[in-house]
Amino acid sequence: MKNFEVIVIGAGHAGIEAGLACARVGIKTLMLTLDINSIGRMSCNPAIGGVGKGQLVKDLDALGGAMGVAADACAIQFRILNSSRGAAVQSSRAQIDMRKYSRYMHKRLLHQKNLTIKEAEAQKLIVQDGKVLGVITDKGTLQAGCVIICPGTFLDGLIHVGLEHFSGGRINERASVGLADNLKELGFNLLRFKTGTCPRLDKNTISYLKLIRQDGDLIPRPFSFSTKSWKRKQVPCYITYTNKKTHEIIRNNLNRSPLYSGIITATGVRYCPSIEDKIVKFADKERHQIFLEPEGARVDDIYLNGVSTSLPEDVQLEILHSIAGLEKAKVMRFGYGIEHVVVEPTQLYPTLETKIIKNLYLAGQINGTTGYEEAAAQGLVAGINAALRIKNKEPFILDRASSYIGVLIDDLTTKGTQEPYRMFTSRVEYRLIIREDNADLRLAKMGFDLGLVSRHDYQRTEKKIKGIQEGLSFLKKARVKPTKSVNAKLAQLNCAPLKRVVSLEELLKRPQISIPDLKMIHKLKPGIPESSWQQVAIEIKYAGFIQRQFKDVERFKHLEKIRLPLDFDYSCLSGMSREIREKLAKFKPLNLGQASRISGVTPVAISLLMVYLRKGQCTKPY
Ligand SMILES: Cc1cc2nc3c(=O)[nH]c(=O)nc-3n(C[C@H](O)[C@H](O)[C@H](O)COP(=O)(O)OP(=O)(O)OC[C@H]3O[C@@H](n4cnc5c(N)ncnc54)[C@H](O)[C@@H]3O)c2cc1C
Repeated sequence: MKNFEVIVIGAGHAGIEAGLACARVGIKTLMLTLDINSIGRMSCNPAIGGVGKGQLVKDLDALGGAMGVAADACAIQFRILNSSRGAAVQSSRAQIDMRKYSRYMHKRLLHQKNLTIKEAEAQKLIVQDGKVLGVITDKGTLQAGCVIICPGTFLDGLIHVGLEHFSGGRINERASVGLADNLKELGFNLLRFKTGTCPRLDKNTISYLKLIRQDGDLIPRPFSFSTKSWKRKQVPCYITYTNKKTHEIIRNNLNRSPLYSGIITATGVRYCPSIEDKIVKFADKERHQIFLEPEGARVDDIYLNGVSTSLPEDVQLEILHSIAGLEKAKVMRFGYGIEHVVVEPTQLYPTLETKIIKNLYLAGQINGTTGYEEAAAQGLVAGINAALRIKNKEPFILDRASSYIGVLIDDLTTKGTQEPYRMFTSRVEYRLIIREDNADLRLAKMGFDLGLVSRHDYQRTEKKIKGIQEGLSFLKKARVKPTKSVNAKLAQLNCAPLKRVVSLEELLKRPQISIPDLKMIHKLKPGIPESSWQQVAIEIKYAGFIQRQFKDVERFKHLEKIRLPLDFDYSCLSGMSREIREKLAKFKPLNLGQASRISGVTPVAISLLMVYLRKGQCTKPY
């Protein structure tokens, strides 16, 4: 029997971050995968980031995660989504060379000290007295202090193509059935979710003249705060649309769809519906947009984003050939649907440790999420906490006011999810202060203290912070006189002329004026990094909103700071309904804030709890 401090089951996006987070802080870690050649495989779209997801990657990067750096190394196109809107909702997205990404991650893991990778199937957990002690695999038994399970869509996966279905974790990869059965035996509540993927086409068989070309941003903005610049040639994507004929073909074949013939009963991704779903649910829409995304710079495969389908192959062909530009397209891989098991995530603490088995952590798709970024974010948090547990240190919990990762994990563990969960900016209450651009300011210190952010990278953040302070104080003090030349420049910017002397800060508050405009009007203090000026501009322009949000955060933190002991006896509380008491006992919230977000727990119940806490004894905090 071999001994490790942490075993990570799975080498997908969650497993990679979990394994690296442990090994990098000196924990002897083993990663198990069903297929050594599929490390970091992108099962679906060849892209990282997007609305809400880009923020997750930036948070991850600021904390010392690997996804942002890897995305920069393997990107073939960068775009900022919502670039015409405010900083709070702008999100980065990159097209990725997905084979290169997998190779990059494989190499990254192979070179990591303290990390061993093994091809084996975890089939059962060794559990004694409510504590995990190791894993039984098809190749032997392994002991560990902590276990992190990140099996993605593989848990009892069932693949659907038309009315045919067969067991599988992804196409051409076997499912993980033993582990799913074992989790059930151990007492976890399991749900069944579904997702699907789109067909891939041969790029040489597409008529590009009929398509709309979509280029990357002129100035690409990389994901990682540590990537200085990104100068490679970008690869374009293309856009086309479905039409009446496409919709007719789909409608005529719904009886051959596993979704509409009742074969798939699991809950699917509402925000990323299959093409069958789109045609049925949005019957009045005349066309649906389709993005043609290359899977790499030097490969022939084009991913057809927007045509996720599990219809039979002959119907898929008919659909594709009805679309402008795709009339003669050759399919390299057909789309398919997959149903798989997930664990109800309310059975986890915000550290991602399970409530029923100590030292056992779950991360990624297994917790009901969908997406590489959501998986990676959880993997990092689970990895950090498993490492802290081995080192006998306080756990690491990110709250809703700290980061998108904090919101993701709080949503999952407090509210749970009845459908595949994906991140959106709209889920984040304090999005004016937790933005992509300031992830390093919010989180790099935590990453540095945890040992995941290097001194060099942390010093860059410190320099940025110093630059912001200097920039703000400079703009407050520097004055501009209402001279002819200043007013002429203001006129060029469609700005009202100055009638009196104003500070540069006042000038920057005007919506038409940016930092580069300010530079044309007045010399700025030298030596301040561009990234600091960007923050200065945001802080000055949105000052009122930001201050108001900080006040909201203070109120939020008040409840968050009041801890609830794990052995709190909720049955003793009088004046509270039995339903609420049972819910609190089941959820085991760690603090009053978390308790207040559990559905059905009323403000009156929270006030009562507060009174009880003041009077009662709170022992054994988590
Ligand atoms: C068909 C399909 C369609 C998808 N569509 C979308 C989409 O539209 N949008 C979106 O955002 N996401 C989509 N996804 C989901 C996305 O791929 C996942 O969310 C993401 O990969 C999850 O990461 P993960 O680390 O949790 O698991 P994965 O990346 O799936 O990795 C799982 C890892 O666990 C290993 N493993 C599993 N069981 C065992 C075991 N018992 N022992 C050892 N190793 C094991 C596997 O070998 C693999 O390395 C789709 C996935 C599939 C398969």
